[in-house]
Amino acid sequence: GCCLVMKLGRGVGWRDFCTWALDVSGTECDKAELCSSSVCVGSVEELKILSGKKFLLDIHLPELLVFPPQTDFHDNRLYTSGHIILQDKASCLPAFLLSPSAGSHVIDACAAPGNKTSHLAAILKNKGHIFAFDVDTKRLATMNTMLMRAGVTSFKLAQQDFLTVDPQDPKYSKVKYILLDPSCSGSGMVARLPLEEAALSAERLQALAGFQRRVLSHALRFPAVQRLAYSTCSVHREENEDVVHAVLQEQGSAFRLVNAFPSWPCRGLATFPGAECCLRASPADTLTQGFFVAVLERCGEEAAVPS
Ligand code: SAM
Repeated sequence: GCCLVMKLGRGVGWRDFCTWALDVSGTECDKAELCSSSVCVGSVEELKILSGKKFLLDIHLPELLVFPPQTDFHDNRLYTSGHIILQDKASCLPAFLLSPSAGSHVIDACAAPGNKTSHLAAILKNKGHIFAFDVDTKRLATMNTMLMRAGVTSFKLAQQDFLTVDPQDPKYSKVKYILLDPSCSGSGMVARLPLEEAALSAERLQALAGFQRRVLSHALRFPAVQRLAYSTCSVHREENEDVVHAVLQEQGSAFRLVNAFPSWPCRGLATFPGAECCLRASPADTLTQGFFVAVLERCGEEAAVPS
């Protein structure tokens, strides 16, 4: 697939990428052509034929740049200094769709290694506050380094099982937004081996789905939460539509599904009425990993829905 780069702000502009594109063979003439072609919005078909040193603004996500396959930014100054992060396009959907307002308090419930946390911080313009939780010490250490390098300051990391975080604790009383990206089977990952998928037993899938339901229910217990983005990189309905449906039923009329990103081409499987409000992503349809996102909001509240 294509190489995708997310700008984190901190003074990174299109010019930085134009400079990169000119590194090899640029001339002034190329530069003019490049600058005009770089900022054009492409179609998915155009993305497929992207080559050489050309790059495009993504057609769906405004802070995403699309480069030809095999472009490698790992040694680039912009990446090593933390000004950009490299992330699959589908993984950029949850923070974008959660769309927390400037200065707000946000929980990232299963946060490590922090890709979505850094995206949230960029959306929040490093203001407000992010409470980030994870159980895995090693992943949290990586996350801390990554967030510091990216200049994220408005966050607090905790090594804690999110299920044990008390929703009534006054420190979370202003949390309006929750990003929930729990452990899943990973069945949507393009690099996943067929053997790994074959080894995913029905019991393991049920155990994951049980955890995902519990953690989603728990997140909705935070008293001020208005909007929540739930995501997995799984293709299985058991971890996606079924989890969302079960929890919505349990909530009665307290929460509803937002019709997230209506122009996104790939929708939730029609397993329950309203499931098409959820998003799916796949290598074939959206040139991304397999992914799922649902956005829930508290009923009776008007929430801004990105179009
Ligand atoms: N959101 C992360 C990102 O964008 O970089 C990826 C999260 S990964 C899909 C799921 C994470 O959930 C793992 O790091 C795992 O350690 C964590 N996790 C699993 N059970 C948890 C729990 N009970 N409470 C908090 N975190 C948990």
